[in-house]
Amino acid sequence: SIVVPKKLTTVEQYKAFLDQYDTFLLDCDGVLWHGSHVLEGILETVHFLRKNGKKLVFVTNNSTLSRANYVKKFQKLGIEATEKDIFSSAFATAVYLRNILDFPKDKRVYVIGESGIVDELKDVGIESTGASDDNGVIMTHADFGSIEQDPTIGAVVCGFDLNLNYRKLAKAFTYLNNKEQNAHFILTNDDTTFPAPNGIYPGTGSLAQPLITALNRNPLVMGKPNKPMLDCFFANYHTDPSRTCMVGDRLDTDIDFGVNGNIATLMVLTGVSTEAEAMDPKQPIKPTYIMQSFGDFAKVENA
Ligand code: PLP
Ligand code: CA
Repeated sequence: SIVVPKKLTTVEQYKAFLDQYDTFLLDCDGVLWHGSHVLEGILETVHFLRKNGKKLVFVTNNSTLSRANYVKKFQKLGIEATEKDIFSSAFATAVYLRNILDFPKDKRVYVIGESGIVDELKDVGIESTGASDDNGVIMTHADFGSIEQDPTIGAVVCGFDLNLNYRKLAKAFTYLNNKEQNAHFILTNDDTTFPAPNGIYPGTGSLAQPLITALNRNPLVMGKPNKPMLDCFFANYHTDPSRTCMVGDRLDTDIDFGVNGNIATLMVLTGVSTEAEAMDPKQPIKPTYIMQSFGDFAKVENA
C-alpha cells in the first residue's frame, strides 16, 4: 500500500497530532536552527511542549561536539537542555564501542574528526589518538617512512574533520589495512553533504570515501538512518515506540531513521528535503506527517 504523508496545516490538526505522542526525537540542524540561527517559533514551541509534559530528545548526526559542548550551544541559543537530552552520533559511537563491541581496555581508537569524538570516547573510558594531532601537517614522500603500524589501535573512528589531510588518511589506512590487527572501521555518520549557513558542503560520508575506496571495505555506520544509532537510542531511552515521533528535515537520514525504527515521522520543510520530494510517487521513504516548520506548534498555545 502507498503511504501518503498527511499534511498538517491548521491548529486543530496540530493539536490532534500532539495528543498522539509523548516523546519527540528532534533532529537539530534544519529543524531547530540553521547553523547558529534559531528558527522562528522554536523557543516558544520547545517551552510549550515541555510545559505539556512532552519529552524532547535531540538527535544529531553532527559528530563535532560532545554532549557537554552541545549543552553550551543550546544554552547560547536559549534552548534548555541537559546532556541526557542530547543523543549525537559521537556519543552513540562511544556507547557502541563500549557496550556492544566491548572494546578492549588495552586498545586505543585512532580518530579522524573533531574533539566531540575524543571527549565522548574519554567519557566511556576509551583512550584515543589522532584527531587534531596532525592538523596542518605537510607531507612529503620522505614522510611515508614515519607512518608505522600501531598495535595499540583497536578501531578507527571517522567523523567530520575540518582539517582532514593525507597524513591522517595514510595513518587510518595503515591501521585498517593490517589484517592481523583486525581493527574496527566505524563512521559516525555517512551524510554525503551537510548544510552550512551559506550553502551545502561535503559531509562525513564524502570525507570517508578515500578510505573506503583504498581499503575496499565498508565501515560500520552509526548515525541516522542506520540501525546501530537506533539500537543505541532504544537502549538509552525507554520510550513507548507507539507514542514516539521522529521529527526531521531529511528524508534519507531523519525520516528513514524513524521508518527503520517503526515509529511515526514528521518531516518539516525548513531544511534539506522538499515537499515535492516527499510526495514524489518514486520516493520510497515517506514521512507519516509533513508540516511547514516545527516552530508552528507555538500557534497552538496562542490559539
Ligand atoms: N555533520 C556535520 C559536520 C554537521 O555540521 C551537521 C549539521 O550541522 C550535520 C552532520 C547534520 O546534523 P543534523 O543531524 O543535526 O541535521
Ligand atoms: Ca537535519
